Amino acid sequence: MRHNGLILQAYLGKAGLKTLAIERRAIAGGGLSTLEDPRGFLHNTHAFFLRAITAMRWYADLELERHGARLIEPELNVALITRDGRALEWWTDIERTIASFADFSQRDAQTLRRWHDEFVPIVTQILAPEAHSPPLPPAERRALLSRTSAGRRLLAVSALSPLEFVEREFEHPTIKAGLLFFNGLREVDLRLPGFGHHIAALLASPAKAQMSRGGSAALARALEAAVRATGGEIKLAAEPRRIVVEGGRAVGVETADGELIRANHLVASSLNPQQTFLDLLDAALVPRDMRERARRFQYNLLAPLFALHLDLAEPPRYRASAERGELARAFMVILGLDHVDQFGDIVRHHEAGTIPPTVMWGACPTLFDPSQAPEGRHTAFMWEKLPYRVHGDAENWERLREEHGRAMLKLWQQHAPNLADAVIDSFTRTPLDIARDLPNMRDGDLLVGAFANDQVGYHRPFAGAGNYRTHLPGLYLCGASSHPGGNITGLPAYNAAQVILADLGLAADWMPAPIAAQLAAV
Ligand SMILES: Cc1cc2nc3c(=O)[nH]c(=O)nc-3n(C[C@H](O)[C@H](O)[C@H](O)COP(=O)(O)OP(=O)(O)OC[C@H]3O[C@@H](n4cnc5c(N)ncnc54)[C@H](O)[C@@H]3O)c2cc1C
Repeated sequence: MRHNGLILQAYLGKAGLKTLAIERRAIAGGGLSTLEDPRGFLHNTHAFFLRAITAMRWYADLELERHGARLIEPELNVALITRDGRALEWWTDIERTIASFADFSQRDAQTLRRWHDEFVPIVTQILAPEAHSPPLPPAERRALLSRTSAGRRLLAVSALSPLEFVEREFEHPTIKAGLLFFNGLREVDLRLPGFGHHIAALLASPAKAQMSRGGSAALARALEAAVRATGGEIKLAAEPRRIVVEGGRAVGVETADGELIRANHLVASSLNPQQTFLDLLDAALVPRDMRERARRFQYNLLAPLFALHLDLAEPPRYRASAERGELARAFMVILGLDHVDQFGDIVRHHEAGTIPPTVMWGACPTLFDPSQAPEGRHTAFMWEKLPYRVHGDAENWERLREEHGRAMLKLWQQHAPNLADAVIDSFTRTPLDIARDLPNMRDGDLLVGAFANDQVGYHRPFAGAGNYRTHLPGLYLCGASSHPGGNITGLPAYNAAQVILADLGLAADWMPAPIAAQLAAV
């Protein structure tokens, strides 16, 4: 049961429904996963940088702090360290970020301030409420946004691609690279019109990267506790074989070992559309055009990650921190990225299934949470975007993993020479490991679906299955393949809970006002 599944379960339990979740693995949490090695080092093998979790409404509604969650938000949130030892820094305090931009370009620093100030109201009044609501049909959304100047501005900026936005607004190649990197982190195709506002929104958003104390899995444990507090049950090491439909309505799930679990009200799936519509439903129960749309659901080419994890005797000490002492406490560190032109190269390598020159990012979690390693010891990791089908076949990762891990460590050591003697142990995780571990992340796509192919907003995952409802009464979607998409946001579940409770005629005091009313009031 994935974080989205757990969040939906907790909301339904809060509304008085009896709930049961089925999880394939022996532990719940999906992308919120932490491994402990025999020496007591913790490694977060999936999500680590958790975006503004404490600002999420479900975090408060489900009382996750009472259930043990603690999030840490380091002040120097992100640092891009260049080859020549300079650093572009994003702070939780926008003034410090602007000052860092000014070290590279005074003009870009002013541009940052202008976009920040203009987009703060757009983020708070439009984009954040939209992410927290079932999406509107595109024509209705456009009509509502066209009524206000903030809405019209948003529509105009979105018409650009992120690449056009950055090329038009900023001048310094490192700043452009840093901004696009952030957008690329969210896996939007940088060349795609319709997403130009993402960068402006990012500049204006108060939402910064956080980490979960005790490891990402500690947040999953808090979610589990929230579920159990409502009487919800979680069945581990159980795989669904089919969704049971009677009289045209989803009425339960049959597990792989033959158990029939009946549901009085609904079945919700947080799996991908192929799993839900093609694997778990008999073909006769899904109209041919729905099957075709599920089959054509696309995954992100640029999402798969390769990871290098280290057990350390001491934290990485970056050469650049001799000049800039603050880098010793940098949270996310980006290495190997100096120039905006590298993006074209990375995309070409992904299309060809080859390995680009390394651009990587990661953290040393124990700088902020010593509980993630034995006393005095540290952990650190770096991620790199690499193709799933490397040289045409994902299985090739088995023979390439060690060599590639060494290449990453070499680049890391160039920036942090002390790593030459500090590494106690290491391991790698490939895009193939990800897809094997969490099969919903098909082709290693950790966002479980591209933001292209009309898979955005009202039509995510595809027309006819948007808004968390399917063609079958009683069957709902609540995972990253639905709006607003992947990452640890919990928002597909938060929104699915609104739709389900409305369909069941149940009221809940946490429910936001309908998004159409919120947009009309901007
Ligand atoms: C290496 C890596 C790094 C990442 N880093 C970040 C990050 O820093 N920040 C961030 O926000 N996000 C990150 N993500 C992405 C994030 O983890 C996912 O987008 C998110 O977990 C998706 O949430 P979900 O609830 O839809 O599904 P998931 O969390 O993927 O959970 C799906 C669940 O379904 C189960 N499942 C799959 N198939 C079946 C089946 N057939 N039967 C039963 N159960 C099944 C799985 O075991 C799993 O528990 C990362 C992912 C990876 C792989």
